[in-house]
Amino acid sequence: MIRFKDVSKVFQLKDSQLKAVNNVNLTIDDGDIFGIIGYSGAGKSTLVRMLNGLETPTSGSVEINGHDIAKLHGKELRDQQKQIGMIFQHFNLLWSRTIIENLMLPLELARIDKSTRVAKAKKLIELVGLKGRENDYPSELSGGQKQRVGIARALANDPKLLISDEATSALDPQTTDEILDLLVKINHDLGISIVLITHEMHAIRKVARNIAVMQDGSVVEKGSVSDIFNHPKQPITKRFVSEND
Ligand code: ATP
Ligand code: MG
Repeated sequence: MIRFKDVSKVFQLKDSQLKAVNNVNLTIDDGDIFGIIGYSGAGKSTLVRMLNGLETPTSGSVEINGHDIAKLHGKELRDQQKQIGMIFQHFNLLWSRTIIENLMLPLELARIDKSTRVAKAKKLIELVGLKGRENDYPSELSGGQKQRVGIARALANDPKLLISDEATSALDPQTTDEILDLLVKINHDLGISIVLITHEMHAIRKVARNIAVMQDGSVVEKGSVSDIFNHPKQPITKRFVSEND
């Protein structure tokens, strides 16, 4: 279980401060597909980056299974970070390496021996539906296929949580649906929790079970997807819900 407790993040700018995350309290249950929506600059990425130590809270705490991330160091922190995979809008692949080489890298960093690495990378490629494309370069793949590689790489360390930060924003609607189907399959078959950050209400409606709405750093509304869609309370939530209807 993930718990954000009174979490704030303040960035120190040149001659001012910016509160990117403002006193957030949020619980995400194991096995959930949890959506986070909000306009650009709402603090969504900053919030989830605190889950794997890419950002540290200015105040409050982020707990994963009862462990405060800020109190983990060295191997404990690295082990925790391995439990979280991330996928991104622009895939963040290594363009000079083949698909299988892109997947071997995190396995190499995890000090997995060569033959196990190859077997595991092949298995991941099959899981995301890219069997036969092992030796292609990312530039030879479509956007959806590139994101499949991103997903396979995020799964390399057998994470318990997958964070998708606008991972379908650059894709057309049909490809978006295919990637969302793959995320649901990963959630269902592998029991991996998913945090889905998106502007796309269609994506939330299709796959998320619970959601939080962020505005100016704060979580202004949260609940089950059906509650939020059927009884939105905040003006911003009403705006989101009426989009794409
Ligand atoms: P988007 O939908 O555009 O990705 P977001 O909701 O993910 O937006 P964040 O990236 O979390 O928003 O940013 C929240 C606020 O914090 C923004 O005003 C942003 O400019 C600011 N911010 C984010 N990272 C930093 C940083 N490293 N230094 C200073 N300000 C930052
Ligand atoms: Mg963002």
